[in-house]
Amino acid sequence: SLATFARAPYLGDIPGTSPLLTVHEAKGAHFKFVFIPGAVWGKFPRRFSPGVYIKKTEDEQKHYDTEEKIFLSALSAGTEKVFVSFNGGEEDEMPSPYIEEFLKDIAVKSAPAQDTFSVEMEMVPAERPPDGSVHGDIFFSGHDGGKVKISVSSLESYMKCPLNFFIEKMISLETKRSEKALCGTLVHSILEKFHAEFPVPASKSEMSSRMDELTDEVFASPGAADFETRHSAGCWKAFFSFFLKKYAEGDNIFKVTEREKSVSVSMEDIEVSGRIDRVDEIEGGSEVIDYKTGTGKKFKKVALRNQIGRGEHLALPIYARAIEGCSEITLFWLADHEKPEDYPQKVTLALDDEKTLAALEEMDLKLKEALENIKKGDFSPASKCPNSRSCPHKDLCARVRGVDIYEI
Ligand code: SF4
Repeated sequence: SLATFARAPYLGDIPGTSPLLTVHEAKGAHFKFVFIPGAVWGKFPRRFSPGVYIKKTEDEQKHYDTEEKIFLSALSAGTEKVFVSFNGGEEDEMPSPYIEEFLKDIAVKSAPAQDTFSVEMEMVPAERPPDGSVHGDIFFSGHDGGKVKISVSSLESYMKCPLNFFIEKMISLETKRSEKALCGTLVHSILEKFHAEFPVPASKSEMSSRMDELTDEVFASPGAADFETRHSAGCWKAFFSFFLKKYAEGDNIFKVTEREKSVSVSMEDIEVSGRIDRVDEIEGGSEVIDYKTGTGKKFKKVALRNQIGRGEHLALPIYARAIEGCSEITLFWLADHEKPEDYPQKVTLALDDEKTLAALEEMDLKLKEALENIKKGDFSPASKCPNSRSCPHKDLCARVRGVDIYEI
């Protein structure tokens, strides 16, 4: 909706995007193409309601004069084409009177006499949007309580910062994938192939040499073509092959039943989907495992529970609900450059443990609130920034927090 977009008024700060400005912010600026959506009574001009976006002292005539000037300045901001759209027909959504009034004689009012330009006025009925629409990584169907689908990773991103989620997942601004993230994908692929061949342990030497071969194979595949240089690809490969070899030669006991399994869980009318790295059969049930290629430094059971309770780690608890008989969830950290001797390492939580159950209850409350906010279209910046140092959108965020977008 317009209200949603209006919360991110400076998207033009991000290279490769178009500025999204209120008409007030666009005053004096010029662009090749200008789109003015929502040209209806009540917005163009805004109703005269002193105290609501309008100074209490302003008089009515002055207000409408200002509105008129602002609309005209928006019209004349386009150097090539101006698109004005409105939703007509409903009683309280009448087309703006300016459409009739100014589009006819804009040339007279705002263009210098020697440089008049013609205005082609064409009324084009807008096509109805299809029933379902995809915004980046999120799928909406219908407007009022319709079906919404979202991935677990998007949901985690929303829980961390709704504005960041909006920019990266909903409008899908391309952000370059880091080499570390690329390694994560490759390592997941190596482990998937490894456990396809070894659902249960074989001899250490057999598993170790096969792990070496799979590492060579995957790091030479087209999926690994995005490293900056061959040198950096070689460094990353050497780093991870050390830990993957340790993984293959370790004393892991496993009985793998599923790898890279796609699942979907229905929560609060929203379908949450994801991919489970691994499911193992264990005594009395099954264990859902999530691999992490980053460091798990201070990670202990209590920290994982806290993260779950705060709604920062959703993947394992949500995946557990998709697997019948799941009794344990495990985070498996594969590599760390500071303490290589400690890795791989893992933390497992039993789902019938009292403290874990309490954390899951807390998570459910947070999740419910977040899912409702997503449906409402609330994409405000996080109240406590989770990533102030390296967030690529911090300038935009500062403006969204600080700017009164209705200020004249
Ligand atoms: S700076 Fe922080 S609060 Fe703002 S968008 Fe980035 S992550 Fe969110």
